[in-house]
Amino acid sequence: MTTETKTPSRLLIVGPPGAGKGTQAERIVEALGVPAISTGDIFRANVSQETELGVLAKSYMDRGEYVPDSVTNDMVRDRLAQDDAKDGFLLDGYPRTLAQVDALDGMLKDLGTELDCVIELVVDHEAVVQRLLERGKQQGRSDDNEETIRRRLEVYTEQTTPLIEVYTERGLVKTVDGSAAIDEVTAEIMKALGR
Ligand code: AMP
Repeated sequence: MTTETKTPSRLLIVGPPGAGKGTQAERIVEALGVPAISTGDIFRANVSQETELGVLAKSYMDRGEYVPDSVTNDMVRDRLAQDDAKDGFLLDGYPRTLAQVDALDGMLKDLGTELDCVIELVVDHEAVVQRLLERGKQQGRSDDNEETIRRRLEVYTEQTTPLIEVYTERGLVKTVDGSAAIDEVTAEIMKALGR
């Protein structure tokens, strides 16, 4: 009997700011046909529409701090319940704290499902400072200035790296070198996904 390995469809991509999560997420969702759910993008859309959520989120984002879990969790719960996420999704930038991991576990349990793969992008932190300063110049993102970038890296190390351990214990993590050229990183991810 041949054992067929199914391509994961409920994924998370994690890595420090500037690791290329957004760029790789776009390519992965195109290949897998699942929606990308980026909490950063949802917050930025709210900031530009000047919604109540956007005004609140901006006050944290501009300082490089995380938006409170209560706000973020509710937003993701609503998004995951939408029809297009029924058969799969790629979470980008969520969960980012251990409390968010618990919240996500609960949401997925309620939906009768669970995560099946975590892609970890590893990059040198000094290299991402340079990448993000460049992005700041090109895209004008207000959180891409040196002070905020350094704070985001600190917060990532303190609050987000513990998650990787949790998911490693669950046997879900595929680690990919995010410092290679964009196409090479994509190829490594696809290989890790068995594509
Ligand atoms: P990103 O685009 O993923 O780098 O996110 C930009 C900013 O949005 C972060 O620096 C946080 O301020 C906020 N943010 C995005 N995702 C989360 C999350 N899961 N929890 C808390 N804050 C978040």
